[in-house]
Amino acid sequence: MAEKLNMLKFQCRSVGFDCDFTAKGKTEDEILAQCAAHATKDHNMKPEEITEELKGKIKSNIHKSWF
Ligand SMILES: [Zn+2]
Repeated sequence: MAEKLNMLKFQCRSVGFDCDFTAKGKTEDEILAQCAAHATKDHNMKPEEITEELKGKIKSNIHKSWF
């Protein structure tokens, strides 16, 4: 029996990047951690550029999705 998990999903383009990155996780913190790693690695952002404001923007664009 396949068990469906209610996962959270965030797409980078939701906050204005022309980018196909999608973060998936069970909690907002997991998504934020993935986004921070992605932003520093792929968008050349510095950790200090990931502000509370940007995190808030990310959180408001996290959607629930069924896998
Ligand atoms: Zn991106």
